[in-house]
Amino acid sequence: MLCRTDSPEATGALGRALGEALMPGDIVLLEGDLGAGKSVLARGLARGAGVGVAMPSPTFTLMQPYQGRIPFYHFDLYRLNDPDEFYEAGLDEFLGGDGAAVVEWPDRAGLDPEECVRVHISRGECDDERLIELSFPGLEGRLAALARAVETWRVKS
Ligand code: ADP
Ligand code: MG
Repeated sequence: MLCRTDSPEATGALGRALGEALMPGDIVLLEGDLGAGKSVLARGLARGAGVGVAMPSPTFTLMQPYQGRIPFYHFDLYRLNDPDEFYEAGLDEFLGGDGAAVVEWPDRAGLDPEECVRVHISRGECDDERLIELSFPGLEGRLAALARAVETWRVKS
């Protein structure tokens, strides 16, 4: 489904609403160019998952864990040079486990899980406009709840 926001605050609010629907084991892949708004969305997701502390930006670690209502693992794989590094560092253990994993630049590790929330953010026509394409492969049973969470920002076609 396609959503649209017109400010960083709106993207944060969308993230927060989606974050409230996250459950342990969930994986959220955030794709899009540098400056698209992945980190803005990730911060919203963290809020929605009950993370109370500020998330630093930019992150210089590949994965930063947070504790919310569930564990929340924020990955930023921009600086990952090789998918092997991801597995050698044991980072795959934080995917599909006790918490929710939110991953910026998932392609850097070649991540393509069967079940995930897949998000692609791109710039719109105006400066602060963003188009947010969401899909929920393998999560058909939760589609209604996930779609309802982001309904406010959905582009009605
Ligand atoms: P990324 O993590 O994708 O590299 P960031 O989230 O760090 O990008 O930065 C996004 C930038 O775009 C921020 O400076 C933010 O203020 C700006 N921005 C403008 N409009 C929006 C919007 N609608 N949603 C998200 N960010 C926006
Ligand atoms: Mg980022």
